[in-house]
Amino acid sequence: MHTDLVAALDIGGTKIAGALVAGDGGLLARAQRPTPARAEGGAVMAAVGEVLDELAASPEWPRAGAVGIGSAGPVDAKAGTVSPVNIPGWRDYPLVSGVREHVGGLPVTLVGDGVAMTAAEHWQGAARGRAGALCMVVSTGVGGGLVLGGRLHPGPTGNAGHIGHISVDLDGDPCPCGGRGCVERIASGPNIARRALEAGWRPAADGDTSAAAVAAAARDGDPVAAASFGRAARALAAGIAATATLVEIEIAVIGGGVANAGDVLFAPLREALDEFATLSFVRGLEVAPAQMGTDAGLVGAAAACWEQLGAGA
Ligand SMILES: [Zn+2]
Repeated sequence: MHTDLVAALDIGGTKIAGALVAGDGGLLARAQRPTPARAEGGAVMAAVGEVLDELAASPEWPRAGAVGIGSAGPVDAKAGTVSPVNIPGWRDYPLVSGVREHVGGLPVTLVGDGVAMTAAEHWQGAARGRAGALCMVVSTGVGGGLVLGGRLHPGPTGNAGHIGHISVDLDGDPCPCGGRGCVERIASGPNIARRALEAGWRPAADGDTSAAAVAAAARDGDPVAAASFGRAARALAAGIAATATLVEIEIAVIGGGVANAGDVLFAPLREALDEFATLSFVRGLEVAPAQMGTDAGLVGAAAACWEQLGAGA
């Protein structure tokens, strides 16, 4: 099927964003609601419905031929269900059928939010034109997605490339996912801040204990703050090196709030990659910041939808 306009949804623990995404990546209409993350599943679905209704009020809506969803995970694209860790009311929740009913039977595709971001970066961002890429979001959590053989690789359930929950520290701390020593347990923003505080870093007078504040301190020469970013960088590098060794990616793209730390993160990350990515076929691996910004989830949900429906964008 062909559609030059996709209704995209980006569903996270704090907000549900929607947009009509055109074939050139432009956003023709937008809608947003806060996620009632502590509410029961029906209330969260009602918020999704409100976003869709607002998009449907746009004069462009009749051109929309499909809905693409990128959701906090895990998702199950095969079953059409989602179980986002940060939305407890949704466990094996039938999001795809709910959305399909709401939009009068349009085709609906579902991928994890890391896969959606990857689709955006591959279409128009830092991974454009690349045959093999790992794209990651490093913020409250750590997610990601893969481009293999020049195509988005969502995997059977839409979660492939979820680098945040591969173990890089065999005897590391337990992770909320049930594993141990996961990349996310070391490299997410809250864990960077926690580790800095535990090691004696103290926030400035404003009391800001975010990862951004730790990054600012590191930039000002605070060795404890820098060490916490260094540890996060090593965890990310170990995960990236493992991925490159397994599937031969040529670039790792890093976005999300923690990537805004710039060289505080990227300099030790490149150093650690030299240490971990040692074999000849991974030594040339590039690392680059993401380019798509805050709309990556929406643009990527649409891009993934086009790719899965087999229609050119
Ligand atoms: Zn984990």
